[in-house]
Amino acid sequence: MANESDVRYYKPKAEFSLDITDIQNFVYDMSRCIKCKGCTWVDHTYMPGAKFMTRCPSAEKYQFDSYGAYGKMRIGHAFGEGVLDWNEKALEIIYACTLCGACDVGCKRNLDLEIELSLESLRVKAVQDGVGPMPAHKKTAENIAKNHNTYAAPHDKRKDWIADVKPADKAEVLYFVGCAASYTNKEIAQSVAKIFKAANVDFMLMPDEWCCGNTVFSVGMIDEAKALAQRNVDEMRKTGAKVLVTACAEGYRMWKVDYPKLLNISTDELGFKVLHLTEYADQLIKDGALNMNKAMNTRMTYHDACSLSRLSEPWTPYEGKRQWMGCVEPRLERRRGTNGVYEPPRDILKAVPGVNYVELPRMKENAFCCGAGRGTREAFPDLATFSAEHRLEEIKHVGVETLVTACPHCKNNFAQAIKAHGDDVQVMDIAEAICASIES
Ligand code: SF4
Ligand code: SF4
Repeated sequence: MANESDVRYYKPKAEFSLDITDIQNFVYDMSRCIKCKGCTWVDHTYMPGAKFMTRCPSAEKYQFDSYGAYGKMRIGHAFGEGVLDWNEKALEIIYACTLCGACDVGCKRNLDLEIELSLESLRVKAVQDGVGPMPAHKKTAENIAKNHNTYAAPHDKRKDWIADVKPADKAEVLYFVGCAASYTNKEIAQSVAKIFKAANVDFMLMPDEWCCGNTVFSVGMIDEAKALAQRNVDEMRKTGAKVLVTACAEGYRMWKVDYPKLLNISTDELGFKVLHLTEYADQLIKDGALNMNKAMNTRMTYHDACSLSRLSEPWTPYEGKRQWMGCVEPRLERRRGTNGVYEPPRDILKAVPGVNYVELPRMKENAFCCGAGRGTREAFPDLATFSAEHRLEEIKHVGVETLVTACPHCKNNFAQAIKAHGDDVQVMDIAEAICASIES
């Protein structure tokens, strides 16, 4: 057993913070997991039936308790107490997880434990202990260090997506494109530019845009992630732009939540506003600056990207003391996923003429992750594919012709699964859907 100084979670008035670089901050939470599996089952009040009643891709695929959040909490607790050493299986379990946050919002219905932060902290520990991340993640990290993008593509080709609509040199709105829309999903970047033009909004780009660092952060490479966060925030501040808009859900989460987390500031202290395209375009439509008048005669649904939904609530640093019975002082404003970006994309799609919009059974904070993000597709392509195929069953269940996503990583993962199975579903990004409805 650990000695008394190691077991802060037993001591009343023990100090703790939400700093993920010290796993001891989360051992209390890990130790209090009661294995109720509220993190795996969709909330009872929304339970859409036996077929779609789970929310954890990892537990659903591997069908073994260690892969659920409850298993990872046991493993983390044992690490925190110093009674378990890393082994190949433990490492695989910690990384064979999409860090989608579904378990976190599920657990917070029950016990208010910080599960997502515990999972992030476990990965940071894996890297600190010299065993993590997985080899595929190291390759991505090398690409980012060398070419400032995740794909090993030449950095000087980053702006090659620019076509008819040219960015301004200076503007109040800065479009952060991200690696995917710059290289593999240029159609999304071009659609975003067309939306700005249709609304008569001048936009600029970062003079020298680099990767947001989502993969390095998500796999626990905290030093690399912190350096990127500082560099990108400094560069953004230098531009003088007041609003950063991005159409990538993972980039959005990095700028809005994880950069402040890494830099130990609150989201409000960034000095600029971070908006996803769906928030920005929704306001343009509601203000009458963007008119969607071309009909899209299709039955359509929307997939909530984890990083735009339950993981997108603003960040506020916290330091306090844990009292008896686990109560904390001062009061901790929990991030429970209920204030994610849920309505703007729905309002946009419902405003498109001719759209027959239907919801998926698992939606908003209960949505099932597509499986692509946070380093999953790189290291565990089978889990990423399983997750997309499982979600696709739900999409086919509601009988839609068009699936709309708001993240290039979701779009690509679903497109691969649809192609592999020859399914009759069209997948498009919400930027493309808006464009289809404003172009005459
Ligand atoms: S909901 Fe929370 S307490 Fe229950 S099993 Fe999951 S992590 Fe443990
Ligand atoms: S983050 Fe997602 S995949 Fe990982 S344990 Fe939680 S629900 Fe499962």
